[in-house]
Formats: sequence, structure tokens, C-alpha cells
Amino acid sequence: MSPSPPPTAAESSAAASGNAAANSLAAPAWPLNPSQPHGLGLPFPGLPFPDGHRLRGCEVAVADLVQTGQLFYQRGWSVGTSSNYSVIIDRQPLELLVTASGMHKGRLRADDFVRINDQGRPVLPDQPKSSAETMLHVVAAQKLPNIGCVLHTHSVWATILGDKFFHRGHVPIHGFEMLKGLDGITTHETNYELRIFENTQDIPVLADEVGRWLDECLAAGGPGPHGYLIRKHGLYTWGKDVAEAQRHIEIYEFLLECVGRQLLMT
Ligand SMILES: [Zn+2]
Repeated sequence: MSPSPPPTAAESSAAASGNAAANSLAAPAWPLNPSQPHGLGLPFPGLPFPDGHRLRGCEVAVADLVQTGQLFYQRGWSVGTSSNYSVIIDRQPLELLVTASGMHKGRLRADDFVRINDQGRPVLPDQPKSSAETMLHVVAAQKLPNIGCVLHTHSVWATILGDKFFHRGHVPIHGFEMLKGLDGITTHETNYELRIFENTQDIPVLADEVGRWLDECLAAGGPGPHGYLIRKHGLYTWGKDVAEAQRHIEIYEFLLECVGRQLLMT
């Protein structure tokens, strides 16, 4: 293979100006990309936390989840006070940072989070109440040792398809290129089954059921599990970090909308 000729002066100039443009586009603006080091001290109210604050040291996780709420609210996946998010901040012993109960996800503030243990209880006094579904985050963290974040959304498509396909136990998804956005899936020909659980209001019972299903999935091998639906309620998914969990939400939401819209067309 012959080497490429050296660039002309005009090409060099164009490349340089292109890089300059790319660099200026890449200049950080709040909110930053998740899971990237956040420039603490940026004009974001409440960060960094002062010494002695109950969330001191959790600034990156807080910033990532605040940004997640803004993004998902804008997409209509976390409207009002629905949804909850967590980051696993320690494993020995298990500790999660979880959204506090009843907070509007598009307007999360730095203080709207709780540090909880493997029982779903606050690890420090004087914290706000954690989400009612906290144990669904805990069971995912316990069963899946490689994940770092759990995200739960209440989109329209997840809500209605979880009911439409409940009698089958899963939403069948097949043939879509976007399936490859789920970790470990390498072909659109995958026959994907997105599990659906009944929307019991008994969260400990549901957490046990989800835990047994996760055990079965892990024993069966293969990619995933990546997430599940709760009937007439919403979607749970996770990832090795906030970025991957966000991606899984995006992929699932895209796939669910494809399935739903196809049903409307036939
Ligand atoms: Zn929910």
C-alpha cells in the first residue's frame, strides 16, 4: 500500500480549523457527559458539598443522576415525580446513592439523594426518605456484581406494552438493529424477551421475585440480563456505570416504541 501524499497547505489549514471547531464544540457546558469527571465548582447549585455534609464524596454520582433526570424528563421518560435512580457507591459493605422519594426528576437538586444500605435503610441520620422502590435497586446491585448504576423510568410505551404483553410474560423483540445497543448482544437476529412482572404494590415480594429471576438468568448464561418491565408501571435497567445504564434506557425505549408503533400499523 502506497503512503498517502502529505497534505497541502490548504488541507492543513482546513484540518486545523476543523479541529478548532471540534474543540470548541467539545468545550464542556453543563450538564456534562455522565461518568466523566465533573468540573466541581461549575455553576451547579450545591456542589461540591461542604466538609461534613452527608453526601460529601458523592458529587460525581449526584451530578450524573441530576443530569439523568434532566435528560429523561425532557424525553418524557421520567415525568413528574415518577422514576428513581441509583449509583452503587460502595460494595463492602453495599451502599447505594438513591433518589429521595417524591422529587421531580427534571428538577433534582444536589440534596435530593439518600445513602442507603443493603436493607434499603439510610446509613446516616437525618436523610430524606428514599424511594418506595429502593429494594428493587438493592436486589439488582446484590445479584449483579459488575453493575454500578440502576435506572427506572415510567415512559408511555413501557407502561402500556408491559400490560399488552403481560399474558406472555415478556415483550418479544426481534430483528431490530438497535438490539445491539444492549451490552453483549451482537446481532439484530436475537430473539429478545423483555421480562414483565406484575405491578404488585408489595415491593419486598417483587424484589424477591426479581432476585430469583436474576439468579435464573445468570445461571442460564448469555448476554444480560439487562432489565425488565413492571406491568402498567415502567422499566428497570442497569449498567456498569451511569453512561451504560442511560444507554440501556435509550435503547429499550427506542425498541419499545418500535414494537408499539408496529402494532398500531398492523
Ligand atoms: Zn416506579
